[in-house]
Amino acid sequence: MKIALIALQGDVSEHKRAIEAAGGEVVLVKCRGFLTDCEGIVIPGGESTTFMRLMRRAGIDRELVEAKDAGKAIFGTCAGLVILGRSEYGLGLIDAEVERNVFGTQRESFEAMLKIPVLGEEPFRAIFIRAPVIKEAGVGVEVLARIEGGIVLARQGKILVSAFHPELLGDSRLFEYFLRMIEDA
Ligand code: GLN
Repeated sequence: MKIALIALQGDVSEHKRAIEAAGGEVVLVKCRGFLTDCEGIVIPGGESTTFMRLMRRAGIDRELVEAKDAGKAIFGTCAGLVILGRSEYGLGLIDAEVERNVFGTQRESFEAMLKIPVLGEEPFRAIFIRAPVIKEAGVGVEVLARIEGGIVLARQGKILVSAFHPELLGDSRLFEYFLRMIEDA
């Protein structure tokens, strides 16, 4: 299964490794014209303001909107959640109000053991790095995990977003879930 990984900025290599570990084939995308060819799209963590600027310059922001309309599955992690959500920094492709940097600076990064029923019994060790959260989600949004500060994993149709970094600790269950989302469709 071909997955387009938007490789303009952020922790691209860790995402590549995690998608491959889950069984996907990664296409690194830095310019327009490659998304239609892929079955899913991943937007990695990084810095959403820079990421958006680079995507606009490359015309990939418009392609993402078209990809959603065409029914492609899209997974955004951390900054990727900011880009997919609703705020002045995002494209609003998922009906979720996002707030950036809610937990403070890089030094206030933390780990949490999350209960994510769709991934099974075993808790998921999640790393939050200058993370955003979903403050409010629309009725069509399925909340998959939350912590005290807000919703940290959610899905609406074929759009999946996580506030944490699922690519860092070698647990590929969330990427496997994303690939299953594509297969099931
Ligand atoms: N704070 C970053 C932003 O708002 C996200 C951080 C991350 O992706 N780890 O874009």
